[in-house]
Amino acid sequence: MPRHFDTTYDVVKELKPSYPVYCLRPDILRDAARRFVDIFPGKVLYAVKCNPHPEIMRYLHEGGVRHFDTASPEEIALVRRQFPGMDAYFMHPVKSRDAIRSAHRVFGIRHFVIDTEDELHKIRAETDEDPDIIIHVRLATPPAGAAYNLSAKFGARPMTAAELLKKVDSYGYKAGLCFHVGSQCTSPNGYRIAIELIRQVIDFSGVKLHSIDVGGGFPGQYMNQRGPNLDVFMDEIKDCIRWLDMPDITFMCEPGRALVSSGVSLVTQIQLRKEDQLFINDGIYGSLSEAVTGNLRFPVRPMRIDGDFDPEETLEFTIYGPTCDNMDVLPATVNLPADIREGDWIEFGHIGAYSNALATHFNGFFPELLVTVGETFPFIDGEFPQVG
Ligand SMILES: *Cc1c(COP(=O)(O)O)cnc(C)c1O
Repeated sequence: MPRHFDTTYDVVKELKPSYPVYCLRPDILRDAARRFVDIFPGKVLYAVKCNPHPEIMRYLHEGGVRHFDTASPEEIALVRRQFPGMDAYFMHPVKSRDAIRSAHRVFGIRHFVIDTEDELHKIRAETDEDPDIIIHVRLATPPAGAAYNLSAKFGARPMTAAELLKKVDSYGYKAGLCFHVGSQCTSPNGYRIAIELIRQVIDFSGVKLHSIDVGGGFPGQYMNQRGPNLDVFMDEIKDCIRWLDMPDITFMCEPGRALVSSGVSLVTQIQLRKEDQLFINDGIYGSLSEAVTGNLRFPVRPMRIDGDFDPEETLEFTIYGPTCDNMDVLPATVNLPADIREGDWIEFGHIGAYSNALATHFNGFFPELLVTVGETFPFIDGEFPQVG
């Protein structure tokens, strides 16, 4: 069990950490899971890649998550080690033959994704034509309001998807359709466009579907990107489901970011200040790679234990990570107290998604320590909250 502190300030005061520290909020993680499971009209699969840490998975499970979206034998094993009876789904459209075989044989996986006929033949062969398999056909969807397009690499075009459904059906498998509107999708309309496309594919194929999986993409809350409430997305999806009017279909979704982003913050320390440049102990090769790839800006708060910041004056700082690479810098400046200095800490909030999951060991720097804290990260519009 990780050590527990009431607040992040207590973490800093007691540990005075010169290494990055992940601060988990178990209540927020459990609540996010509970809320999603309560209001989504179907099965909620947690997308393990978003944050595979066992502590994170534990809180989501405590919040009611019972299904896991996985993409590799390692992720499947991770789920099964921690939750022996739980359902894992192999939702990657391109799998090695060995991975298909061991997923089916060793772990009893029954759900697989394809976006080509070749992949369907691989699955058939490597599962010894087991008829109790459910094949989900991944449909490419038009980009609509997402920070990351996830249909450029995977997903069949509508006509191909319809042909694939017919093939799946002709082999006697149950057939599903799935898509991913793209990660950090701030427009509920993205789901509507995708479901309307699904309708056309179903009608064209004439196949009776087992399930529709609306994927992930539900947004987290960042300084520069704030989606509407989850309720707005769910209302849109429920409206689409009524419009589809297919009562026998099971609905599924695969949220990653929306379940974990606000449940974790990261405490970093300033190791040197050069005028308006701050050098901290984590960066884009560690927990902050999303700041670069999606240009997401995390809310921050500065912390000091041996005095107060001057509350009057702030400056825009450029933040550098610890590695020797030029690229290890945050693309957007961060507004902080003008008198911030070496030894102070900067806490990045809402960092639960795609942070530790993407961290490398480059140059010998890697965030590792994890604690739990009781307080919520105070998200204040455009401002940093004053602590310490
Ligand atoms: C990454 C991914 C997810 C999770 O996406 P989020 O944007 O984090 O919700 C779900 N399903 C698939 C197939 C993915 O690749």
